[in-house]
Amino acid sequence: MKRRQLLAGASAVVLGGGHAAAQSAAVIAGTVIRDAYVITMDPELGDLKGVDIHVRGTNIIAIGPDIQVPDAEVVDAAGMIVMPGIVDTHWHMWNSLLRGLVGSTPQTGYFPTIRKYGPHYTPLDTYAATRLALAEALRGGVTTVHNWAHNIRGPGHAEASIRAHEGVGLRARFGYGSAQGLPPDKVQDLDDMARLRGALMIASRNNRVTLGAALRGPQMSATEVWRREFEAAKKLGLPISVHATGNAEMSEKFKVIETLDKAGMLGPDVQIIHAVHATPQDIEALARSRAHVSVSPNAEAASMGVPPVNAFRKAGVLTTLSIDNTALPASVDPFGLMRELINLLRARDGLASPFGPRQALEMATIDGARALGLDGVTGSLKPGKHADLIMISTEELDFAMSGNAPVERLLMAVQPTHVDSVMVDGRFLKRKGRIVAIDAAEIINIAHDAAEELVRRAG
Ligand SMILES: [Zn+2]
Repeated sequence: MKRRQLLAGASAVVLGGGHAAAQSAAVIAGTVIRDAYVITMDPELGDLKGVDIHVRGTNIIAIGPDIQVPDAEVVDAAGMIVMPGIVDTHWHMWNSLLRGLVGSTPQTGYFPTIRKYGPHYTPLDTYAATRLALAEALRGGVTTVHNWAHNIRGPGHAEASIRAHEGVGLRARFGYGSAQGLPPDKVQDLDDMARLRGALMIASRNNRVTLGAALRGPQMSATEVWRREFEAAKKLGLPISVHATGNAEMSEKFKVIETLDKAGMLGPDVQIIHAVHATPQDIEALARSRAHVSVSPNAEAASMGVPPVNAFRKAGVLTTLSIDNTALPASVDPFGLMRELINLLRARDGLASPFGPRQALEMATIDGARALGLDGVTGSLKPGKHADLIMISTEELDFAMSGNAPVERLLMAVQPTHVDSVMVDGRFLKRKGRIVAIDAAEIINIAHDAAEELVRRAG
């Protein structure tokens, strides 16, 4: 009952839109974030010390010293680092209800667990899980997500996901996937994907939520099936994402990149996830076709190995960062994830690994935006772009004793609790350490109830 009410409430929020304060002069003048250390991630602007950012409506209007805007709301950011929000590029948000259920034996691992519970998901479970994941994203400073939804059991599940995205307010690509348990010789619901594309083009305010195709690809579906799904997605103009988790010694089906390359299916619109076992030929094919890779260091270290990120980057393959899932269990800690990747690459490639904090920040911001086709909108801070930014408090124990250390190195110590404020499209969703856009406690309660019922139903 409680969950039903929440869903109804959420739709009111989505449709209700604006707020009365929209009339006030302060809102018209916008917000000036004052006296921050700004890491723009823009090659021309670089890092700027003691500057202001003027945000009006959804956009950044100006960045510079001493910006004066009559009637603007002023946000004191002295002692804060302001940078673009984190861009996640692959995250199975529906399975966040399963946190802690994944064990460490072959029978209780990640895949058996999602296969066991996935078929029991109702649209309300999907809604509760997606909201939980989004709230956690927001807490940790993530402003854009790629929700890789591979348990769309019907149009209701897709609608529930979209509703969750629109209600929380982060920027998102919703990757329309198949249902858990769909046989490899069955095509996923391409008609509903096409329907949703049309509906989203009309309904999504400000294009904050866009659509992509989350396909099983050669690894998880029959040849005629993945070909048909790829062709349908390309015809709809949707970006495509597929997993490549194993190597050819395990099974021929893991030759995902080679198979797609031979079929002429790779391109800038194609994302390959993990690619841990990419061969030199695979890397060449990715570079040539301008397909890109999303790596999830946490999930990969837990089950697959370390992706050849340095080789990707050296070859010019756009490489981005992803949360993957929180069922493992894991938490949404983007800076922790960057730190983990730096260390894993050192373990893999030695101390001369050229991947450091600055490269990690690039990967987690502007490169992620590029991969999602959103670099004109987000991923760096400069006038004209949308205001998707985070403010990080440096008045924490972790920042003490820093001297004149490069700021990107300090950022590798950041935890979600240091993320003081999160702004998406010019609107603060987290402020002074508190999530203000949504009721986080309610989201936790709803998710908890949903998870309990789900476990009971699944036996
Ligand atoms: Zn995945």
